[in-house]
Amino acid sequence: MTAALAVSGITRHFFGVAALGGVEFAVPAGSITGLIGPNGAGKSTLLNVVSGLLKPDGGEVRFMGEAVTGAAPHRLAARGLTRTFQVARGFPKMSVFQHLMLYGPRQPGERLLQAPMWGAAARRREAELAERAWSIARRLRLSHVIDAPVTALSGGQKKLVEIGRTLMAEPRMILLDEPMAGVNPTLTAEIAAHLQALNAEGITLCLVEHDMALIRQLCGHVVVMAQGRTLVTGSFDEVVANTEVQEAYLGR
Ligand code: ADP
Ligand code: MG
Repeated sequence: MTAALAVSGITRHFFGVAALGGVEFAVPAGSITGLIGPNGAGKSTLLNVVSGLLKPDGGEVRFMGEAVTGAAPHRLAARGLTRTFQVARGFPKMSVFQHLMLYGPRQPGERLLQAPMWGAAARRREAELAERAWSIARRLRLSHVIDAPVTALSGGQKKLVEIGRTLMAEPRMILLDEPMAGVNPTLTAEIAAHLQALNAEGITLCLVEHDMALIRQLCGHVVVMAQGRTLVTGSFDEVVANTEVQEAYLGR
């Protein structure tokens, strides 16, 4: 197995309590990996550490074979690792289009100490980004609301904007924290189809999701966390057959 993402021995404490107690975790390149576990298991904390929002106390994160532990989110995005949030971020009054335009791949000219881009080059880049935003909106069936403020969208459409935002960065891998939570069944099926299509194009996905039917449908590889550790790793059928997993879900 070639791992797109490999996490080893990650620890993270909050006020002396271990939220992550030495997590071992790998996402095979090209897979849709499901990350499941009871509430408080540490799934979101793990995604926060992997995506650079939270520094771990110890351990290592490798992306595409390179150590990226503690790297800032924009540096990870530049390498091709992006994430969605449970709640869409950004400025509520901004339109879907403006929202997407915030998140294009970084260009050398945008670095702080380098010359900004001027004139024709800047306009060309802006036009490329706009075309990219439009094509993502068409693909996610958001073009009819592209000028609407994000606040005016349904919960499911906001989730699609979150996915669209990650696609602006031309990702190789996307971490998704409950992208279907609170979404109606029709749009849930639509989001599932989008995820399968993105995966078929070669994007590795890691999905935190509570709905086991969706995990079974989408995920070839499943990792179960409980109490800040990896409990079991395997196919859907393997992990649900595991007695430790059944106990973790039923509670002790
Ligand atoms: P999950 O996403 O699996 O439900 P979390 O990663 O959100 O679990 O939480 C794991 C543990 O870490 C929980 O006990 C939670 O209370 C704790 N925790 C998470 N974030 C914080 C924080 N910012 N401050 C204090 N405790 C936190
Ligand atoms: Mg969570």
